[in-house]
Amino acid sequence: MEELTRKIREKARSMGATVLAHNYQRPEVQDAADFVGDSLELSIKAMQTDAKTIVFAGVDFMVEQAAVLNPGKTVLTPEPGSICPMAWQIDPPVVEEYRKKYPGAPLVVYVNSFVEVKALADYVVTSSSASKLVSKLDAERILFGPDKNLASYVAETTGKDVTAVPLNSYCPVHIGITSSKVMAAKDKIPDAKILVHPECPPETRRLADFVGSTSQIIKAAGEMDAKRFIIGTENGVVHRISKLYPGKEAYPVSQDTICPNMKKITLEKVYRSLVEKETAVKIDEKIAGKARKVLERSFTLLGVEVPWLRK
Ligand code: SF4
Repeated sequence: MEELTRKIREKARSMGATVLAHNYQRPEVQDAADFVGDSLELSIKAMQTDAKTIVFAGVDFMVEQAAVLNPGKTVLTPEPGSICPMAWQIDPPVVEEYRKKYPGAPLVVYVNSFVEVKALADYVVTSSSASKLVSKLDAERILFGPDKNLASYVAETTGKDVTAVPLNSYCPVHIGITSSKVMAAKDKIPDAKILVHPECPPETRRLADFVGSTSQIIKAAGEMDAKRFIIGTENGVVHRISKLYPGKEAYPVSQDTICPNMKKITLEKVYRSLVEKETAVKIDEKIAGKARKVLERSFTLLGVEVPWLRK
């Protein structure tokens, strides 16, 4: 494994490429990457790097988003079959159906969606910015998709009437982090703080000491005055916390909280992607341009500098 990591590092350096890995990737893939983070952090990192080639170890919508934000760079996926089933639950016909049903309601889409959907949205958010952006909207009814659990979290934290688009959309990994599993984990480690992702069901979130995105969970584990944590998100985050904070202990809610699609990417596939320069992500530039406008509007409303307009 170490030999392959060394070969990846050497190959990336020799061809001026950078390797980015999502927090949910296998530990060894995280350790071989130049940068590890959540989907938005990785997209911004992709924009900041001078590298013209980016190998993105993440699922389909993340790789696509990096390509949308980086016209002119080559974005490679080591495994095109690494998909996010939740992102596939919303598409333009679904958007049209809900727009017709709820005329005038702003549509806020989760970053876990494809460029065609982002281009049709009013705003795009991450799990860390969803509540903040929705609270700024001058509307009481909000359409939010995909993910009924994140939609309910946004409703709880903003007091607005948030309709999930589509109604039964969910992440198959986070929906499995049930309250009974969390209670069983807490029984084993009573002094542990419980940190969960807002894609978890509402009953699970109610048991938590902290609810936040993967990056917010990682940050909270570093800042909280506690030694042990039960982590209610994909188990790749447990590795990240253990690596960043050697004095702290992170435990998964259960061993099966694994996103199988994220785990399809192996060190071998990352290396092959660099050597064969495969598989390059192709984007329709016209649709990408529309999606970038929606992202710009979203960053502006959040008071965040638009990364690609930075001087
Ligand atoms: S954990 Fe859920 S939302 Fe994240 S990539 Fe896997 S299926 Fe998609």
